[in-house]
Amino acid sequence: LWQNCLETLQSELPSQQYNMWVRPLQVQAINNDLVLFAPNKFVLDWVRDKYADRINELLTELAGTNKPNLKMEVGSRAAAPVANPTLQVGNNFAPSNGQNSSPSGTNFNNTNNVTQIGQTPPQTLTSNLKESYVFDNFVEGKSNQLARAAASQVADNPGTAFNPLFLYGSTGLGKTHLMHAVGNEIRQRNPDAKVVYMHSERFVQDMVKAIQTNSIEEWKRHYRSVDALLIDDIQFFAGKERSQEEFFHTFNALLESNHQIILTSDRYPKEIDGVEERLKSRFGWGLTIIIEPPELETRVAILMKKAHESNFDLPHEVAFFIAKRLRSNVRDLEGALNRVIANANFTGKAVTIDFTKEALRDMLALQEKLVTIDNIQKTVAEYYKIKVADMSSKSRSRSVARPRQIAMALSKELTNHSLPEIGAAFGGRDHTTVLHACRKVTELRETTHDIKEDFSNLVRTLSS
Ligand code: ADP
Ligand code: MG
Repeated sequence: LWQNCLETLQSELPSQQYNMWVRPLQVQAINNDLVLFAPNKFVLDWVRDKYADRINELLTELAGTNKPNLKMEVGSRAAAPVANPTLQVGNNFAPSNGQNSSPSGTNFNNTNNVTQIGQTPPQTLTSNLKESYVFDNFVEGKSNQLARAAASQVADNPGTAFNPLFLYGSTGLGKTHLMHAVGNEIRQRNPDAKVVYMHSERFVQDMVKAIQTNSIEEWKRHYRSVDALLIDDIQFFAGKERSQEEFFHTFNALLESNHQIILTSDRYPKEIDGVEERLKSRFGWGLTIIIEPPELETRVAILMKKAHESNFDLPHEVAFFIAKRLRSNVRDLEGALNRVIANANFTGKAVTIDFTKEALRDMLALQEKLVTIDNIQKTVAEYYKIKVADMSSKSRSRSVARPRQIAMALSKELTNHSLPEIGAAFGGRDHTTVLHACRKVTELRETTHDIKEDFSNLVRTLSS
């Protein structure tokens, strides 16, 4: 019933309005009620004000005398997985055009900016470059400095600086953006350069199609003629042996003729399961660089820059507030900012911290739910293979004291608990002990490679 109702609404409303206000709604039938859950009060008020009448009408039209009572509240459906509120809706409600993700798997509307080319045969290779991903709007910080510098070198000297360039890091940190930036820059300097961006899944699909249509030789020739080949998220090659084989040959052919290759993955090449050893070792022939989650100042800078690009006057303390709360990746930061901008434009209200809290209510709640001191203690104990009880024990032996300090520092950085609260959770320690731990860990992260790596692994695990 709700599905039908949604379909009609989607056909009636401008898509921006639909996406902004209707799509985030969750629905639950409770007895005779149809309860719509809005992610925050703005959405609730807006929907009530603008769409409730129409929804009621549609429900009557569709259900007649069996029409459920329409109720609306802020919150989310009971027992619904809260992994990602927007995604979740997309998964639960079929889009109104009735096309579920196509069974043939040709649907590439995932988080990557892959242009949908449909049936285009490989001989008309399009670059697939996204023009908005350039170096100019890529905010630099400690976490991505090396990657950016390497990418920029490659753009200056394609084929000769570092080949291949392999960027890795978890999702939403700018790998795809940087990759496109290189491609765009190469083309800007040399408009005739043949640059091709491909998501690895797409690459595999195209190849399969080429095999089916007996055009594999042509397909190979085309790939081997490009000046720069950018393959995104190559972890998706895992287990695809034939594709790996073809890619291996293409890869070698391109490298031999000094054509640039750029690859990305969500993990270190050696750690990609299901990919042949010889291929992995080749990935490492050039330069392999990690992009890490941005630190606080960079997150603030990214928000300020994006707000500026949207001509939106974002108060600095609001940027700081958002950056402090959303730590794991840039994509989430962007999503949050867009939400704030949309809510501000529609309500005309001033953008204060309270306003932002309300607008981002569900996102913030999600973050808080995930990162608790408990969770941190468990994760750190597991990571260092010690007992959770050691987090609160009196033991001063290095093997437990160090992980304990790291857990305290993580609690300070990732939760909103005060120093005394953190101390209390670690076996009733004093707040000065926590402070000391935070300082010690900051120092160790700068001087000790292992600790630096442990810390960023833990942050990644805890905040993804
Ligand atoms: P990944 O490929 O690592 O998953 P993306 O390149 O798709 O991440 O980045 C996610 C979003 O965040 C994109 O919209 C991108 O423009 C933006 N982004 C990531 N890092 C930065 C940065 N340093 N400065 C500006 N925007 C960024
Ligand atoms: Mg990507």
